[in-house]
Amino acid sequence: REVDPAVAEVAERLSSVKHVVLVLSGKGGVGKSTVSCQLAFSLAAQGKQVGLLDIDICGPSVPRMLGLTGREVHQSSSGWSPVWVTDGLGVMSIGFMLPQQDNAVIWRGPKKNGLIKQFLTDVDWGQLDYLVIDTPPGTSDEHMSVVKYLGGCIVDGAVVVTTPQEVAMADVRKELSFCRKTGLNVLGVVENMSGLTVPVSELLFVDRATGEDKTESARAILREKAPELLELMAQTTVFTSFGKGPRGMAESYGVPFLGSIPMDPNLLKACEEGEAFTTMYAESPAAKPFVKIVGAV
Ligand code: ADP
Repeated sequence: REVDPAVAEVAERLSSVKHVVLVLSGKGGVGKSTVSCQLAFSLAAQGKQVGLLDIDICGPSVPRMLGLTGREVHQSSSGWSPVWVTDGLGVMSIGFMLPQQDNAVIWRGPKKNGLIKQFLTDVDWGQLDYLVIDTPPGTSDEHMSVVKYLGGCIVDGAVVVTTPQEVAMADVRKELSFCRKTGLNVLGVVENMSGLTVPVSELLFVDRATGEDKTESARAILREKAPELLELMAQTTVFTSFGKGPRGMAESYGVPFLGSIPMDPNLLKACEEGEAFTTMYAESPAAKPFVKIVGAV
């Protein structure tokens, strides 16, 4: 059978990469780039040599999340050089090539495909343990191209990110069906923004009928009648779940469920400031699933 020259070219370029992992989501805004960036940080923290390729052409958020806005990529005879965050973490994103940060890229299919192919063939990663690819949301032409171009490489599989709402999961089912159809292995489903964790000490007591803030009087009662409870409140968090669907969905598709990441202001902060979350906030309830994701890839 004749091999597509583009497929052979990609295979040749990525022959120095041991593992390729795609990060997918059904919808935008569910935390796909967050998971991609933090996965890359976490793997690099384990001493792995990691590349992060952001092919979310219409909304490249990786440069911001890694604190790399305004950086430019350079081209040499061996290809485009990634921007290195550390010695062990290199990044390539369409975001580096846009003349202005807020330039929306509205390109048609063939041009997008050309760019994706270039991203896969022209970046000089050197030796990598992992190449993490942050893809656009949904199952678009870009996904078909990526899977096609990677046809000659060993792809470990896809990490699929979703939020627990039914509207998001409906699109993830399409994503999982896409994986089935194209033979792309699913490493697992990650539920992001699964709920809200709040330190009990920061809870406000609000009158349901009037909206009046009763925190002061509630605390006064607790101080007098239940000081031990007040003490316990200082040391605990409460969790309120936004839904529990993704675990069951993963089960019904026969793919692993990798865990739930709650809404976490520290994770948001890490993303805004381009920092590695799990190393900075190891104690956070949102950190655990990342460790599991790293174990799965
Ligand atoms: P996507 O790549 O799916 O479009 P992003 O990763 O860009 O989504 O996430 C959207 C926004 O939500 C970002 O500002 C990110 O920092 C924030 N975010 C993602 N996950 C969480 C979380 N678990 N807790 C708090 N903020 C989060």
